[in-house]
Amino acid sequence: MSYIDEVIKSVEERYHYQPEFIQAVREVLTSLKPTEEKYPEFVKAKIYERIVEPDRIIKFRVVWEDDNGEIHVNRGYRVQFNMAIGPYKGGLRWHPSVNESIIKFLGFEQIFKNSLTGLPMGGGKGGSDFDPHGKSDREIMRFAYAFMSELFRHIGPDTDVPAGDIGVGGREIGFLYGFYKRIRNEHTGVLTGKGLEYGGSLIRPEATGYGVTYFAANMLATKGEDFNGKVVAISGAGNVAQYAIEKVMELGGKVISFSDSKGTIIIEEGMDREKWEYLMWLKNVKRGRVREFAEKYPQAKYYEGKSVWDVLRDENIKVDVALPCATQNEIHKDHAEAMVKNGLIAIAEGANMPSTLEAIEVFINSGVLFGPAKAANAGGVAVSGLEMAQNSMRLSWTREEVDRKLQEIMKNIHDTSLKTAEEFGYPGNYLVGANIAGFLKVAKAMMAYGIVY
Ligand code: NDP
Repeated sequence: MSYIDEVIKSVEERYHYQPEFIQAVREVLTSLKPTEEKYPEFVKAKIYERIVEPDRIIKFRVVWEDDNGEIHVNRGYRVQFNMAIGPYKGGLRWHPSVNESIIKFLGFEQIFKNSLTGLPMGGGKGGSDFDPHGKSDREIMRFAYAFMSELFRHIGPDTDVPAGDIGVGGREIGFLYGFYKRIRNEHTGVLTGKGLEYGGSLIRPEATGYGVTYFAANMLATKGEDFNGKVVAISGAGNVAQYAIEKVMELGGKVISFSDSKGTIIIEEGMDREKWEYLMWLKNVKRGRVREFAEKYPQAKYYEGKSVWDVLRDENIKVDVALPCATQNEIHKDHAEAMVKNGLIAIAEGANMPSTLEAIEVFINSGVLFGPAKAANAGGVAVSGLEMAQNSMRLSWTREEVDRKLQEIMKNIHDTSLKTAEEFGYPGNYLVGANIAGFLKVAKAMMAYGIVY
């Protein structure tokens, strides 16, 4: 058993009740095996054992009152995983499924993702098991204030800079930031994803969706292909999915699907600008369900209780490119096999860990271009990094400038992942390349600090 296998085993034993965290550790550490031999000093310094333990986990009670005066108690989390290369940075997720395992997996992945962007950001993640669905604006506001009434103690522009994730978008960041500013009496870049009027960056809302599309375009270019005329499946209908749909349409691709946690829409003729604008209104203003899209556009078909990947498999629908943008573990082995059988060329992960380890194996073994989340969806945190830079300079860049920087960063991440994979003997394997490239920078910084870190 190799040293890395032993580390994985010890994590599996110690945290046997945290399946998502174990999955993320297995995915990353397995692909780091080629570094074990090349950097014996990392083994000696126990870097691999150190990197799987967070610097600290903050867990707190969140008490809030609904519109009927009823009191509710939720759990809040912030995992400050690794600060070796910059302040902790990572989103906040509000979803009933949130628990320590999910926040740890997200925080762990974030270390390598942030490192890959080339910007000075450490890894962290947070959230709550609060369910924002069906809550009024006032209830969201009261919850956000209650959440920040504890979180404020642990964050700061040079310490830890949270952002949004599932269930936390522009409205929620506004409430969180407003409360922080009020109690700290400071107007600083302590959160990213802020509104443009109070320190936000242009292109931040679009960044993850645009970024994953740019990443996929870079992968396609290695095969002399582009998005023009490609049939594209996208899952989710939230922030990431919405802007992935827009960018794919702009690049000439035909988007035939999106979804939410209740069901999937398939639209064979593809999305267009008008339908996209309706979807934006439906999800962001009305806060409705994708089912309502099929009520407005009868040519769209709604599949209750099925994911995009279930429908592609069951209806034998062929797609060229897949961009999963909903949540973790949405693509299983049988979904992957069905897409590969139907001629899938590329998949780029907009969501975090949307493919199970078995599904990833299918993609990689069949020669499909596989863009792992930590590389493909890094555009969001990259533009958050640019928001921090603009806040520090008290300046704001134009839309064109931020978009240009985002495109450059995505290309760099793509090229670095590919180059590193080649260097370590896994040509074309973006997963190995991204994990090793992200890891090396953090590991070298940890070595520089000595054993205290
Ligand atoms: P949103 O809350 O805006 O949207 C999430 C979407 O996914 C919604 O359509 C939601 O449906 C659906 N969804 C959520 N949970 C489930 C579930 N358990 N089963 C099926 N569908 C589900 O979040 P984002 O778009 O911001 O995030 C999507 C993914 O992208 C997440 O994995 C996130 O970690 C990742 N990500 C986000 C970044 C960002 O900048 N926002 C950056 C990098 C990664 P419903 O409306 O019914 O809840």
